[in-house]
Amino acid sequence: MSKQATTNHRKVWRRIPLWQKILIGLVLGVLVGVLMGESASVFKPIGDIFIGAIKMLIVPLIFSTLVAGITAMRDPQKMGRIGARTIGLYLITTAFAITIGLLASLVFQPGVGMEMGFESGVEAKEAPSLVDIIVGLVPQNPIDALASGNILQIIVFAIGLGSSLTLIGEKGEPVVRVFESFAEAMYKLTGIVMAFAPFGVFGLIAHVAGSYGLEVLLPLAKVIGVAYFASILHVLVVYSGLLALLGRLNPLRFLQGILDALVVAYSSASSSGTLPVSIRCAQKNLGVSEGVAGFVLPVGATINMDGTAIYNGVVAVFIAQLVGVDLSLMDYGMIIITGTLASIGSAGVPGAGLVMLTIVLAQVGLPLETIAVIAGIDRILDMARTSVNVAGDLMVTTLVGKSEGELNEDVYNSLSRS
Ligand code: ASP
Repeated sequence: MSKQATTNHRKVWRRIPLWQKILIGLVLGVLVGVLMGESASVFKPIGDIFIGAIKMLIVPLIFSTLVAGITAMRDPQKMGRIGARTIGLYLITTAFAITIGLLASLVFQPGVGMEMGFESGVEAKEAPSLVDIIVGLVPQNPIDALASGNILQIIVFAIGLGSSLTLIGEKGEPVVRVFESFAEAMYKLTGIVMAFAPFGVFGLIAHVAGSYGLEVLLPLAKVIGVAYFASILHVLVVYSGLLALLGRLNPLRFLQGILDALVVAYSSASSSGTLPVSIRCAQKNLGVSEGVAGFVLPVGATINMDGTAIYNGVVAVFIAQLVGVDLSLMDYGMIIITGTLASIGSAGVPGAGLVMLTIVLAQVGLPLETIAVIAGIDRILDMARTSVNVAGDLMVTTLVGKSEGELNEDVYNSLSRS
């Protein structure tokens, strides 16, 4: 290729908005994966490098954004209100999610008439106790929390530090400026890593599409379809409804603004890994302030898993149908409660939901061995539930931002986006 042609290609590529390039990566990845089958895994390292680079951003980005954001709000008490609203909205949307999952499986009956063999020997995971969770929030050593990437502990320390910097006034100014400048550098670095997203998404998806043949997917097509349907319904009905009714905001604009995060969540199956992209979407495309984005999103990536809750509902009913057990009203109530807890306890990493599903199954007396049926296709389900997890975090961030006057509606409503 001549030098001139290469320069022209570069120019064309640069002119395409990032979200379109990421979508191109996704579609090409599926095509290449389907065509090449298992050998498409040669592209996996490209995806792994991308995910590694995003993960590199998580700790410094959250820490600097949150400290800088809290000092910019200049009102430490505001954080208390934001915290209460965040947790309240997270719990309500999760309860909606698991109910939608249950109903979808009850209506479409994906497990009725299926024959499957199970392996034995699966043990139920223990639900974390609330006291342990609360005690574990306090970082005994903040450097240790930063080094091990304990998000909730980092948040607690950042809130403490940010509030104290505000309270000491002028004396805190030099450190505040350091954090502001550090956060700015982290946003820039996120942008640089995101320029690589189309290739990373391509590599990840090509590998996934290449490793799941139709012979694995077809027998379970119905349960996959029900889980995807319930996920899309939740985003379109519950999220759009809440944004329009509570926030008086245009839901279409929201969906457009979060597209980068959705695609990265879908291809990586990790909501924690998607955090830097979510924070970027919230600030750049939706106009949420850094204080709200830096707090609500990391908390969400750790505890708010609506997609995982939907999955718990869909799969629990699917398995009951598969083994021919009639669930009572009390069982459904138990699934809603334990499914919500299990989703809170799920880490934002690939496959976490499958492990936590055992809590829900054990609670209503369903055989744990049955998860082997789902395990083979879990990645496909995980990709959908992670996208909903991330969409849910961003929806609550937008609503909390709006209710606290921390949402720039000019940015939200403008169509210009990366
Ligand atoms: N992979 C999901 C996430 O990162 C968690 C799950 O497995 O349900 O959000």
